Amino acid sequence: MPRRYVLSLILPLVLCAAGGNGRAVAQAGAGKPLPNVVVLATGGTIAGAAATDVQAAYTSGQVGVEQLLAAVPQAKKLANLRGEQISNIGSQDMNDEVWLKLATRVNQLLAMPDVAGVVITHGTDTIEETAYFLNLVVKSKKPVVLTAAMRPSTALSADGPLNFYNAVAVAANKDAAGRGVLVVVNDWIHGASSLTKTSTTAVQTFLSPIWGLIGTVAYGNIEFYRGPVGRNTVTSEFSVDKTTRLPRVDIIMAYENMDGALIDAAVASGAKGLVIAGVGNGNMTEAAIKALAAQAKKGIVCVRSTRVTTGRVGRGVEVDDDKNGFVASLGLNPQKSRVLLRLALMKTNDVKAIQRYFEEY
Ligand code: ASP
Repeated sequence: MPRRYVLSLILPLVLCAAGGNGRAVAQAGAGKPLPNVVVLATGGTIAGAAATDVQAAYTSGQVGVEQLLAAVPQAKKLANLRGEQISNIGSQDMNDEVWLKLATRVNQLLAMPDVAGVVITHGTDTIEETAYFLNLVVKSKKPVVLTAAMRPSTALSADGPLNFYNAVAVAANKDAAGRGVLVVVNDWIHGASSLTKTSTTAVQTFLSPIWGLIGTVAYGNIEFYRGPVGRNTVTSEFSVDKTTRLPRVDIIMAYENMDGALIDAAVASGAKGLVIAGVGNGNMTEAAIKALAAQAKKGIVCVRSTRVTTGRVGRGVEVDDDKNGFVASLGLNPQKSRVLLRLALMKTNDVKAIQRYFEEY
């Protein structure tokens, strides 16, 4: 079925749902001029397309930002929208070049007095990493809201249009300011440090274990429950203003019978830091601990995180972090530990200072 036809089938449904909801429209309208929100598109399934509306195979990053905006005309009642294309890639291909471009552009836009907020469309695979990265390097309290979709724009019951609508509602809402970088997917508002992808295919893939949701948003109606966890944006001491390169940090998963081969190989490949996605409470075999401690002695910063979806990794529980010179990731999962460690390594490789970052961010 042609893509345009599928969209014309889906859009009236979304229009009915949004139009039937008084509060969302009243929130943005109420006689006041609409806020200006800029949409930065990076690709992902939200911009993906398949040959038919009921097939699993599709390609991310096929639809441009203007088409995305045109597909959700209801969002124009919430904010004055304009779009910019930052990249058009599946987020499995997210990279430092796009990250630095995105961070620079977000900071430029939010420094403009007439820009109220930014929405970023992104793939779900690495959205948690990009959100957390921006949470640490954006220098504004104004709302930065990432959104995504699990189903391509051509799918039956595509989730992208309503996610986008809700993201615009949050970015246009003054109360979203000062809550750090947010991710809006499937009616939920997540904080950048807490959310994680938990299902490869389900629309309800994102959870915020331990810390819970920042809020909810249904057809543009927003309820906020809490503020951000950890230092972020204007209280963050990290910046990528003049940065062209971020230090290499690799993640290695722990497993039964693990030896030190991958740890040594990562360092030989140029890693300045390592994150172990440990078993349980950041554990690993004696052989892996020995190899890791030897690298820590040489100045490679080694962080113990966990391959388990929820729960903190505590310092010195079953592993002697003081003796081995390790950092415990505390509440950060391996992929977010890697983001923090890369930024930390731009400042220092002192293990105590970096442990403090993990406590504060
Ligand atoms: N692979 C896709 C991406 O991350 C998945 C998605 O967006 O849902 O771009």
